[in-house]
Amino acid sequence: MKNKITSEERRKLVEERLPYFYKMMESCRLCPRKCGVNRLKGEKGFCRTTDKIKIASWAQHHGEEPPITGQNGSGAIFPSCCTLACKFCQNFPFSQLDNGVFMTPQELAKKYDYIAKKGVHNINFVTPTHVLPMLLDAWLNAKPETQKLPLVYNCSGYETDEVLDLLDGIIDIYLPDIKYSNNKPAGQLSSCGNYVEENRRTLKKMFEQVGLLQIDENTDLATKGMIIRHLILPNDLAGSKDSLKWIRSELGADINVSIMCQYFPAYKVHGDPVLGREITADEYMPVLELVEELGFNNVLAQDPTDRGGA
Ligand code: SF4
Repeated sequence: MKNKITSEERRKLVEERLPYFYKMMESCRLCPRKCGVNRLKGEKGFCRTTDKIKIASWAQHHGEEPPITGQNGSGAIFPSCCTLACKFCQNFPFSQLDNGVFMTPQELAKKYDYIAKKGVHNINFVTPTHVLPMLLDAWLNAKPETQKLPLVYNCSGYETDEVLDLLDGIIDIYLPDIKYSNNKPAGQLSSCGNYVEENRRTLKKMFEQVGLLQIDENTDLATKGMIIRHLILPNDLAGSKDSLKWIRSELGADINVSIMCQYFPAYKVHGDPVLGREITADEYMPVLELVEELGFNNVLAQDPTDRGGA
């Protein structure tokens, strides 16, 4: 694990590595699906995206975990489309139905600057994997004050080693999901039949890179590290207990875990006999009890009355 770098050093890294990120879209391998399409020539793979970035929103976001949100919020950038296809996605209007507006990197840089000026504590790339080259290109075009903010990589936890190696030193804080511990529901609900092995490799690699969450004692804000998010699904379709046991045994007791109970039926699961309801206290409490039993030291747990979304 390396020390935090300056914004000038980060800028240099992005400049050096950006051509490699773009090159990866020539026979696309930006995510573990490795579709092999030439996105530079307008072809589309599973994520329905060429080399043009579409943005659904940019916002001063107050719904992330407290060390990311702080007082002034996180500067969240929400690209359209996704490398997964979750039937219950809460962001489906842009992740699955692809709503958004096309922007050049220069236009997008102005959105980064706009939210940075509002005093946000970081720039937060939400579900960024499929559009990383353009997100980083935009970052290079942002103002020096914007480039001083920590970069948060907020993702599904489905990444390749190649991308993570290229992000080494660029990203300060990883905010990945651990969505499933079994590939059967991962395939059925998110069209991602190899999620578990790819996700676990991703989490280990991120942890090697940035380590435990570091908090500035004056501001209580995260400056580096990772928080793993887990969303509990009805009927234990997420396999919460196995995932928590895996995290504890592979990444230790001090890793930050964020346990989320905000699930509500959205997109394709309205009226679904299994997924068409919120989770119950009888599903949430045993997960929290296990977290305690396993001895995790850094746990963020949502208030069951909070269905607002993180
Ligand atoms: S980023 Fe998109 S096109 Fe590239 S491998 Fe992943 S799903 Fe396929």
